[in-house]
Amino acid sequence: MTPITGQVYIGGQFRPSAEVTPVLEAATGTPLGDGANAGTADVDDAVSAARAALPGWRATPAARRAEILVALAEALKARASSTNELVTRENGMPMSLSRGVNGAFPAVLLNYYAALITALPEEEVRSGPTGHTTVRHEPVGVVGAITPWNYPQALAAFKLAPALAAGCPVVLKPSPETALDAMVFGEAATEAGLPPGVLNIVPGGTETGVHLVAHPGVDKVSFTGSTVAGRAIGEVCGRLLRPVTLELGGKSAAIILDDADLDATLAGLRTQSFTNNGQTCYLNSRVLAPRSRYAEIVEALAELAGSLRVGDPLDPSTEIGPVVSERQRDRILGYIEAGTADGAKLVAGGSIPKDQPRGWFVEPTVFADVDNAHRIAQEEIFGPVLAVIPYDGDEDAIALANDSEYGLGGTVWTTDRERAMSIARQVHTGTIGINGYTLDIAAPFGGVKASGLGRELGPEGLAAFRSVKSIYGTGPS
Ligand code: NAD
Repeated sequence: MTPITGQVYIGGQFRPSAEVTPVLEAATGTPLGDGANAGTADVDDAVSAARAALPGWRATPAARRAEILVALAEALKARASSTNELVTRENGMPMSLSRGVNGAFPAVLLNYYAALITALPEEEVRSGPTGHTTVRHEPVGVVGAITPWNYPQALAAFKLAPALAAGCPVVLKPSPETALDAMVFGEAATEAGLPPGVLNIVPGGTETGVHLVAHPGVDKVSFTGSTVAGRAIGEVCGRLLRPVTLELGGKSAAIILDDADLDATLAGLRTQSFTNNGQTCYLNSRVLAPRSRYAEIVEALAELAGSLRVGDPLDPSTEIGPVVSERQRDRILGYIEAGTADGAKLVAGGSIPKDQPRGWFVEPTVFADVDNAHRIAQEEIFGPVLAVIPYDGDEDAIALANDSEYGLGGTVWTTDRERAMSIARQVHTGTIGINGYTLDIAAPFGGVKASGLGRELGPEGLAAFRSVKSIYGTGPS
């Protein structure tokens, strides 16, 4: 399928955007097509269309909204193979991952929230000391949703599925790097019979996002992206007293305990530390290794990095594709230089692979002898770069894991479940996995500290798009 280029999707129609920015193929650097770069007038029109759609969509019975969400899921699934290819070309995501998280995953999430909104009562009556109160769940209103390029389809679905289920029209602002795949949501929405204006898509850069966040017609902002942008958006929303959900960066730690099964741990870290070419917010970019097994773990991780299959992301056997852009590649290479300059020891990778002169590839890289205070241990690199830090005893491991500005994810690797649970309880993050880390769509996802505010997924992800109203003096007398 040929991608839709240079268009925004407003009020159920595609139309040319104010400006365009070429979207480049990550593996080759060649243009894939013009991405929309929506201007302020496009955003104004999108918000107007969403406001016009609000009364009708919020009044649509939940069961009918759910039917449309299921139809939208089907329409996305029908396009899955071309969407997967498009995303892989745009951002370098290996095809083996693309297949799970693009066409397929948004459909799973739409079906989940369709079922949830049908099952949850809109109103419940509570009895208290002063009588009966009806507690009503109402859509929060028009949502401004801003997404990054690393999982463009999945992270948009984190917002679209619960917002649409709750009865909220959405103005989605995808990243310029992945402006093309975003249009698939528009095509699918039209096919599924989503009423015009319930979903509007205005890809663009920071300026487009800034205009959307502060727009007087927006009732709620839901943002996924960097902590720097999240802070700026949080400040605006604070001033406007506008509800905001912020899913931000991370520097999560894998804590390998001294009793861990190293083969199983390494098999897990193969994805937990490198998935999507290191461009995943929750991945374990710090590995905390017990000093008693430090040398063995460093050697195994270096071997693991060297064994990852780097290459064409469209090849289903590729494990590491290119990073999204030249800018991102240069940023990662800058961190690799900083690691060496700070005195860490490079034990794998460290440069551009010699057999990948085109596109934005970086070798899977491992640093040993890292101090947790080093920049490569504290700052989010967002590339295939691991920092291995030694520790002495469980308390030290917990302290190091918590000695971070961020608090998004993490893992504990051990053969002792009780010990793992005890450590998991003490790590200050929004999520953590034991001997693995797989998102559960029925459980809340999000971060603490500089990793964000609020939660997505699960019933909590729906609650983020509903406001509650108490109507006193109601219910059975
Ligand atoms: P980014 O913050 O540069 O951009 C994200 C989106 O916000 C883009 O659409 C961008 O155009 C827009 N934007 C940037 N500044 C803005 C502003 N001031 N106002 C409004 N919109 C603005 O992030 P990125 O480089 O695209 O994505 C990578 C970052 O996203 C990483 O830090 C990563 O950890 C984070 N991320 C977090 C999660 C999570 O769930 N916690 C998931 C994926 C990615």
